[in-house]
Amino acid sequence: MGEGDSAAFLSSPLATAAAGLFGALWGSFFNVCIDRVPRGESVIRPGSRCENCGTPVRAADNLPILSYLFLRGRCRSCRAPFSARHPLVELIAALLAAAIWWRFVANDPTEANGIRVARFALYFAFSGVLVVLSFIDLATQLLPDVITLPAIPILFLAAFGAHAAGWTERLIGAAAGYLFFRIIADFYYYVLKREGLGLGDGKLLAAIGAVLGWRALPFVVFVGAFTGALISLPIALLTRRRQRGTATREPLRRLQVPFGPFLALAALAYLLIGPELLQRWLGLS
Ligand SMILES: [Zn+2]
Repeated sequence: MGEGDSAAFLSSPLATAAAGLFGALWGSFFNVCIDRVPRGESVIRPGSRCENCGTPVRAADNLPILSYLFLRGRCRSCRAPFSARHPLVELIAALLAAAIWWRFVANDPTEANGIRVARFALYFAFSGVLVVLSFIDLATQLLPDVITLPAIPILFLAAFGAHAAGWTERLIGAAAGYLFFRIIADFYYYVLKREGLGLGDGKLLAAIGAVLGWRALPFVVFVGAFTGALISLPIALLTRRRQRGTATREPLRRLQVPFGPFLALAALAYLLIGPELLQRWLGLS
């Protein structure tokens, strides 16, 4: 196939569907990471197994999304239920891969084929990191260093092959992302004398800046904080009301809505539609 034929294939709906399938298969691996990284276990070995009875999952039962539906969400040997998070993560990974292919490969015929595919690889790896970190943050309220710290230089370097945002923009993005949270954390600690927030969010924002560049950060922080507040305020009000209703005066539990998933969501929104939104709403480019 010549460059032109390849370009036509890359732009075809079939190629976008194949990207979705590729994403779903990686989604299975994302689940393994979400399950095992917080426990400090290897994500390579052993293969997938039932959390309850330890039976290895057969290859035929390891199809993304479909196996969960066929087996009605249960282990084939002991019938213990699997978390619905597994097919959800696989579905999210499939949709992200298809969307990234559609946006950066199928609909960008001006770039060379190699660059378009490199962009897909970079942005899908980036989304994978965001998905894994979000679900770990939801489950444990932590963003593990073992993912965030290597992600910053690896994604920064990988972006050179993909003609993403310029490297100075990305270097400033990584530094500014970390410093933004560092300054807030220090303010809480030294001025308000409170353990305000962890630096996991800062390392996550550094990884986001290392890929998308510093121009993305105001959008990511603003949209992340806004959607985070939109979700967490009703939860806070409901918990407070329920606690007021109880007879024993328990101390108000500290609200635990992690910020990581909202930063990740905002970063994905910026990646897929951010520049267009900014142009349309604010006249910025
Ligand atoms: Zn089992």
